[in-house]
Amino acid sequence: MAQKTVYYIEGDGIGSEVWSAGRPVLNAAVEKAYGKENALDWQELLAGQKAFDETGEYLPQATMDALKGAELAMKGPLQTPVGKGFRSLNVTIRQTFDLYACIRPIKYFKGIESPVKRPDLVDMVIFRENTEDVYAGIEYASGTPEAKRLIAFLRDELGANVDMAAGVGIKPMTEHGCKRLAKRAIDFAIDQGRDSVTLVHKGNIMKHTEGAFRAWGYELAEQEYAGKVVREGEGDGPVIIKDRIADAMFQECIMRPEQYSVVATTNLNGDYISDALAAQVGGLGLAPGVNMGDKLAFFEPTHGTAPTIAGKDMANPGSLILSGAMMLEHIGWHEAAALIHASVEKAVAEKKVTVDLAGQIPGATQVGCAEFGEILLANL
Ligand code: NAD
Repeated sequence: MAQKTVYYIEGDGIGSEVWSAGRPVLNAAVEKAYGKENALDWQELLAGQKAFDETGEYLPQATMDALKGAELAMKGPLQTPVGKGFRSLNVTIRQTFDLYACIRPIKYFKGIESPVKRPDLVDMVIFRENTEDVYAGIEYASGTPEAKRLIAFLRDELGANVDMAAGVGIKPMTEHGCKRLAKRAIDFAIDQGRDSVTLVHKGNIMKHTEGAFRAWGYELAEQEYAGKVVREGEGDGPVIIKDRIADAMFQECIMRPEQYSVVATTNLNGDYISDALAAQVGGLGLAPGVNMGDKLAFFEPTHGTAPTIAGKDMANPGSLILSGAMMLEHIGWHEAAALIHASVEKAVAEKKVTVDLAGQIPGATQVGCAEFGEILLANL
């Protein structure tokens, strides 16, 4: 019997509700697919408000220690107070465990209203680099001594023409960082039988960062995947590696989404493109995600704590459940994942959905969080 330990954090706000509706669906899908052969062994870890109430700390050391040895984890949303209190728990976890790849599959569920004509043609998985780029946090406000010092250095030592009054940010990108992200995307395409990986960059303008991302991606493909991948225009292969400039890629996502499958991209491009694609298929309501390092894969819904509907049995547990399905795919339990996808498809097609989706499906019947979970269970 294969038993997989999954550490889970309930999360704040709607976290407890989406878990109580969602976890039985994940367990039942595994049981339906494999009987008693496979099972998920859930181990709770404390973080957020629940941790604070029980231990006096928002991110207890015991949680971090358990995650150090973990391969699989899932979390509900964690609240980040704006402008006060502690640093984002999400960012702390991401940085501590070097979860460098943010992965978001974007697929259409039939019946949801979309702003485009053929949302069904979108079936992409975005691999967004999660640690570098302008998100590295090296930024100085206009007029500060730090900004002035940096600009003086750029002008005096490097001859750069920068206005002394500018705010400045730095965009560091390394060969190591870019290649490990590209490797993740190519491995995924090969494992999951996807037919292409597109490197999305703005290398025509930012040659030594975005352009380097493209060059390192191709270099990795040539060095490590000879015979397994083929560069676009150089023949046929099971996986084609291509690249697109970011602005052109946004057009492609709308005009020809069927030509793209796996996308590997830098941090800022990835942020934009995953939300734009999610909107194309009808918003974030069902969007799952994962942040992955070399050891730990941390699955989570893409939404936040939804404080205004918390405790009202209104939340959609779909994003959490589909994040769980992603986890099942990640460990090779494809049959169980397929059952979950089919179950969500059926619920949406039958128009029995939570409030967020009801607004996007003409003629829908609105159900609560717990009832939606029961519908998904019955559909398995
Ligand atoms: P949010 O995602 O919580 O809410 C945005 C809107 O979507 C709200 O109208 C909300 O009611 C609705 N919504 C979100 N999830 C829903 C669901 N499952 N079902 C139905 N409706 C849903 O974003 P926000 O308001 O910007 O953030 C609230 C808090 O969540 C903040 O403290 C923020 O820092 C945190 N947050 C955490 C994560 C995370 O843990 N990964 C992600 C985003 C936001």
